[in-house]
Amino acid sequence: MKLLQCILTENDCYQAGRTIRPKGVMVHSTGANNPNLRRYVQPVPSTPNREELLSALGTNPNANHWNRPSLDVCVHGFIGRLADGSVAAAQTLPWDRRGWHAGTGTSGKSANDTYISFEICEDGLDDPDYFKQAYQTAVELTAMLCRDYGLDPLADGTVICHQDGYRRGVASNHGDIYNWFPRFGYDMNDFRAGVVRAMNGEEDDGMVYYKTLADVPEYYRDAVAKAVDKGALNGTGNGELNVSEDLCRTLTVLDRLNQLG
Ligand SMILES: [Zn+2]
Repeated sequence: MKLLQCILTENDCYQAGRTIRPKGVMVHSTGANNPNLRRYVQPVPSTPNREELLSALGTNPNANHWNRPSLDVCVHGFIGRLADGSVAAAQTLPWDRRGWHAGTGTSGKSANDTYISFEICEDGLDDPDYFKQAYQTAVELTAMLCRDYGLDPLADGTVICHQDGYRRGVASNHGDIYNWFPRFGYDMNDFRAGVVRAMNGEEDDGMVYYKTLADVPEYYRDAVAKAVDKGALNGTGNGELNVSEDLCRTLTVLDRLNQLG
């Protein structure tokens, strides 16, 4: 995992200066089609290593980044693309600063008081390569935070997403990350399991899965549909396929060789 530091010192949340004792990690995704870190993360003249950061992140020409006053949101980190297209994490608040990411839940409490938070920059939600890299970076960042703060990622309510927070009564009703991860066959149970593997120093297989035929990218779909039609591919029940990208690719090659009829 590549981790940059660009603290959003001009954001009112940073300026408020309240601190927390981190009890968990809350995963968000942005809900907007822009995978570039520079959309949100930019240094200001007083930021250490400003030139270096600008060349790594690229410049946001629209002045809508989050390192400025008068925003009512701020997270501890972002995951997205650098200027060279690679995927990285950027720390944007001290980890123990109180963030503004969860709003207030139905219990009247807020995950802002106890959770470290980061946003994964969404793209069009249909690129398995970007998903794979962003997801894995999120797993590794969460593993690092769990290690540093002595958190057990499998303990109830420790590693959750925004929508989980809503269901637990400590966050506003946003859908993230269930608008995205399930398209590639992942949920927060998979995520937590990945965090455990990362903490144990194990490699993730990095495999992307598609839950239904509709989730399979268009360039693979014809071949996969043929395999389903012929009864060669039955899925895992409930109309779910859970087919891996590798298998989709194999089927597409077979189709090109006219092996699927
Ligand atoms: Zn969110």
